[in-house]
Amino acid sequence: MSNLSIQGLWKTFEGHAVLRGVDLSVKSGALLALLGPSGSGKTTLLRTVCGFERADSGTIAIDDRRVAGEGMHMRPEARRVGYVSQEGSLFPHLSVAENIVFGLPYARRRTRDRVAELLELVGLPASYAARPPQALSGGQQQRVALARALAPSPRIVMLDEPFSSLDAALRAETRQAVAAALAHAGATAVLVTHDQSEALSMGHEVAVLWNGRMIQTAVPDELYRRPVTRELASFIGEAV
Ligand code: ADP
Repeated sequence: MSNLSIQGLWKTFEGHAVLRGVDLSVKSGALLALLGPSGSGKTTLLRTVCGFERADSGTIAIDDRRVAGEGMHMRPEARRVGYVSQEGSLFPHLSVAENIVFGLPYARRRTRDRVAELLELVGLPASYAARPPQALSGGQQQRVALARALAPSPRIVMLDEPFSSLDAALRAETRQAVAAALAHAGATAVLVTHDQSEALSMGHEVAVLWNGRMIQTAVPDELYRRPVTRELASFIGEAV
């Protein structure tokens, strides 16, 4: 997949600066956990990368190709960024297979093999293809949402608190399945979370957003041992 590079990103809502000069880079094939307390700007950053929000200033590039910056705003469909939301948001009137191929060009849709391949990637049996999403557990639905995000071969996948609506038992199992699927797909991914232990256990790197500023980016062990501020140390400490 691709690498992501963000430089000097600002985003203001109604006079309130939510992103204050954010820099971030994610290497190709890496899973970056974007950690921060509620309200720190994580979702806004993710939505701006997807193109759902327009940046005030700064640049976003995927594989050194600019998708936003200096007045330029590539439309979300053209960015080829996959997106998994908190709730998965599968269509209840469509089967699992129809959900997975939804939005693909017509020529690429009638590929039963592709659906089976994606289901296998996220650790679900091919027989689930014909089921309605409601027949699956919340965790299985999130895996289908990931399969759908991966179906068009995106360059990067953004996951916005994908496990937050799951209970503890399902959460652990779903985290494992998602991590395995992303690794197997070689996906470059950003996982937004306010859960410290999730960030430390899943991220190859963890970036910490605090009041709209990126205060630290480090491998989990480094972040755990040497958090840059007292507030971050106590935030990390809450998880253990
Ligand atoms: P996080 O994901 O870290 O919880 P968010 O990005 O959701 O943070 O929100 C950061 C701040 O931006 C919050 O104060 C929120 O109210 C504000 N915000 C987010 N989206 C909008 C919007 N569309 N209009 C106005 N304010 C917004």
